[in-house]
Amino acid sequence: MTLPLPVSDVLAAVPLPALAIAQGEQILSINATAQKLLGLPAQGRHFITVLRQPAVVEVVERCLAQGTQGTAEYLTREDGHDVTYTVTVTAVGDSGTVLVTFQDISHVAAASQMRRDFVANVSHELRTPLTALMGFIETLRGPARDDATARERFLETMTKETERMNRLVGDLLSLSRVEADERVRPSGQVDLVAIMSTTMRNLNPLAVEAGVTLVPQLPDHPVQIGGDSDQLMQVFTNLIENAIKYGGADKPVTITLTEHDEIPALRAAGIQVSVRDEGPGIEPQHLPRLTERFYRADSHRSRALGGTGLGLAIVKHILNRHRGRIKIASELGQGSVFTVLLPIK
Ligand code: ADP
Repeated sequence: MTLPLPVSDVLAAVPLPALAIAQGEQILSINATAQKLLGLPAQGRHFITVLRQPAVVEVVERCLAQGTQGTAEYLTREDGHDVTYTVTVTAVGDSGTVLVTFQDISHVAAASQMRRDFVANVSHELRTPLTALMGFIETLRGPARDDATARERFLETMTKETERMNRLVGDLLSLSRVEADERVRPSGQVDLVAIMSTTMRNLNPLAVEAGVTLVPQLPDHPVQIGGDSDQLMQVFTNLIENAIKYGGADKPVTITLTEHDEIPALRAAGIQVSVRDEGPGIEPQHLPRLTERFYRADSHRSRALGGTGLGLAIVKHILNRHRGRIKIASELGQGSVFTVLLPIK
């Protein structure tokens, strides 16, 4: 082996975009991935004309002058996507040369953007009922102080708003619990028919109140699968509750369970459960996004009915844990069918 190694060979071996800047501030060498990232022939040029972004330039200048290591973010777009790199600038011994490497941290940036969006959404969802409550309290203390009828009416609305906040917090907690154990496979064996019957019994008062008839089409023998019974009950509760809420009065909601030797979408033997309503249906552009947190096809209606926008997100996470899937089909004016597919093993 001959020393010193050529800089270009060392950079070619680095598994990240990398370049070296000489003491004279020119690009000494650059590897192929960095060349591709920066786009223009860089060798021999002044680093400022190649790196350009002020945050990066500043760190390089400091390292050239004082030998101090530093990092900066480098933002760019590749194939129509925003890409974020962390750029690390390090002095190479005391040669006066500086090594610049780029590490793609877009997935980290995307995760923190999602977290920010989530916090903003939750705050917004809580603020709306809170603002309403504050308004009512003020009215009750002032203009409506001695008006017994108004007081009753306001208290009723205030109860509704508090219930909604309570449901929202409950759904947020379930979502976080479900996400926490999404990677742990459920260990229990459950009878889906029993779970569905219990769920329907629990929801019957709600259905009666809404003028909806629940029509079960279940096998008359137990259907065993591996699963978590509380979570599966939550899946069917959320779907049937939605069908009652959005399906409309005087209409049936049909719940069907069928067994299949092969479900193509699962590539396995499985169970199919469909919850069908005869409501107004959902416009096709909303269908792919319904399981996103806080996504609503009709926000006005969802809020009026006390919805949190989290029900289907919870369903999706629980089904992921069970290696199952959900399919949503709907035609305007014809109603909607939410189909759950669960593998038997
Ligand atoms: P929400 O608490 O708003 O009902 P979900 O996550 O359960 O939240 O559902 C998301 C959205 O999907 C709802 O806001 C509604 O617009 C739509 N949706 C869900 N189920 C139905 C259904 N059976 N019929 C029509 N729209 C539905």
